[in-house]
Amino acid sequence: MKRDRSTALFKRSQELIPGGVNSPVRACRSVGTQPLFIESGEGCRLFDADGNAFIDYIGSWGPMIVGHRHPSVTAAISAAMEKGTSFGAPTELEIELAQCVVDAIDSLEMVRMVNSGTEATMSAIRLARGFTGRDTIIKFDGCYHGHADTLLVEAGSGVATLNIPGSPGVPEAFVSHTLSLPYNDIDTVNKVMAQQGDRIACIIVEPVAGNMGLVPPRDGFLEALREATAKSGALLIFDEVMTGFRVAFGGAQQRYGITPDLSCFGKIIGGGLPVGAYGGRKDIMAHIAPQGPVYQAGTLSGNPLAMAAGIATLKLLQAPGFYENLEAKAERLIVGLRDLAKKYDIPVCCNRVGAMMGMFFTDGPVNNFADAKTSNLERFSLYYKGMLENGIFLAPSQFEAFFISAAHDDAAIDSTLSAADRVFGQL
Ligand code: PMP
Repeated sequence: MKRDRSTALFKRSQELIPGGVNSPVRACRSVGTQPLFIESGEGCRLFDADGNAFIDYIGSWGPMIVGHRHPSVTAAISAAMEKGTSFGAPTELEIELAQCVVDAIDSLEMVRMVNSGTEATMSAIRLARGFTGRDTIIKFDGCYHGHADTLLVEAGSGVATLNIPGSPGVPEAFVSHTLSLPYNDIDTVNKVMAQQGDRIACIIVEPVAGNMGLVPPRDGFLEALREATAKSGALLIFDEVMTGFRVAFGGAQQRYGITPDLSCFGKIIGGGLPVGAYGGRKDIMAHIAPQGPVYQAGTLSGNPLAMAAGIATLKLLQAPGFYENLEAKAERLIVGLRDLAKKYDIPVCCNRVGAMMGMFFTDGPVNNFADAKTSNLERFSLYYKGMLENGIFLAPSQFEAFFISAAHDDAAIDSTLSAADRVFGQL
């Protein structure tokens, strides 16, 4: 595979941008390769600066659920652009996207747009603290909620990939109010809540964990969180930045039938442009400025191009059978991968929830971060490199999920499975 131009670009970018990238996992360090610089995308494919083509399973880390350059999305962005790119004053598009999101997500009565998932979770936690008058929060090991100071404790995603224990630059005092517990461990949650539930402002959880690889919630786990928070007066925050509009149109909360107090969104609701959102019941959201005293703001929040892309994307997701089709394709892919691994006697644990998938190079089951860390990372790295050489673009980390889009057709899945057959054969 030709890489001359990507190699030259990476050399240049390292002089100007820390690590040569604007988000750490993209640097591909943990798999021992260098990033490919992308020139364009179309449907389920990416094309790099050297002219190589790949079938894309990163999907910009989740947002591209209808594929790259979907004509309805690009047309909506162009139409918005014709009118101006940012006004710093409200537009009707903001109401339209808010309406789509509130209509789609049962637990939402009001929603505030921000610019990233990080801003959404950070703001939701500030709101939970302001609303309850309590400081301590509970999160789970291996869950990633963005890079706000209070949340960089036992975090997943790039923090797990680079094996960073916490982060320099985060004062001890900032994380002293964060408790991180094992995912899927109901007993520990109940024990901690029994001891100090009246000090807990909120429990924040990825309802399907996607940042330590893909780890589904065990039966009863989300219900237990709902029960424990309701009993103690803490808020339950579902971080649906990854799962929202991905595992079902109504998010993981619809799929599992749980009603959180607050929810966070990102990725898909921006249709590939920078958007995040948080929302919930009116009596809680009324605490946000200017209606209430909890401050949160953004110069570009509700940006018209981003709103237009989000509205167009959410419209496409409402086509009859959209999620059934997506899920059927994801099932064919994950079953295919599992069968191929078996053929070559390679221990793997394959997980799937809707169109979110994960494959750990370990026997499994994988129920939490400690289980995920038993994966054979060397083998993952060989698999990653082999798949890339065969034209398959996967997330360069064992501790990330992979995604399918509506643009992945049967031929793309067949090619992916043929590539896996060759690569597993060489592992
Ligand atoms: N929460 C979850 C569950 C995420 O997966 C991510 C990003 N992968 C974030 C929050 C942070 O979002 P962003 O990168 O847009 O800040």
